[in-house]
Amino acid sequence: MAKKSYAAPDKDAGWGLIYRLNNLWGQVDPKATQGKVDEWNFVLDRIYCNLLYANDMIVKRIYQCNEGHTFATFEKKKECPSCRNSTAIKSPIKLIKIESIELSDEDEMVYKFLTKKIKDAVNNKINAMKKPTDKKTREKTKNLEECKEEHYRALMMKDIWLRKFMQDLGLYLKVSQNDPSHALFGQ
Ligand SMILES: [Zn+2]
Repeated sequence: MAKKSYAAPDKDAGWGLIYRLNNLWGQVDPKATQGKVDEWNFVLDRIYCNLLYANDMIVKRIYQCNEGHTFATFEKKKECPSCRNSTAIKSPIKLIKIESIELSDEDEMVYKFLTKKIKDAVNNKINAMKKPTDKKTREKTKNLEECKEEHYRALMMKDIWLRKFMQDLGLYLKVSQNDPSHALFGQ
């Protein structure tokens, strides 16, 4: 994932998000250590959604100014580019719609890859538990312990990848940072 210089977000939204993320992380370890693999995966998905909200949503917005110019942009705008150079009084603009929301390509690819790995491992586990009676299928079927191990490893990879993502964004709170007034972003 791309490293980005970290700018303090809008304070309320920023702290809300950071606490939400850190609360979710607090649920990860108990699920993982108790072997609740589906719940573990579910929490990781929630973290991923929240992280994308923080960083990597590419939102295409359509604005319109009072003069009737419409324009599309990936950034939040305050003025109309057509009116900017004219001497007339700046025309207020309003957001008229969100045209699209995309995830950044690389993060989406990694996420899809890991999600597929987990899904495959779950399917292999289900097949292994069926204990097929016909010999050929039985030979092709992986043994259950091996499948469980694969499932666990795939989840761990997703877990580690998300932790790195958090680190890159400077969103982890140190234990000593329980008081938001003492905490700094990105440290
Ligand atoms: Zn305009």
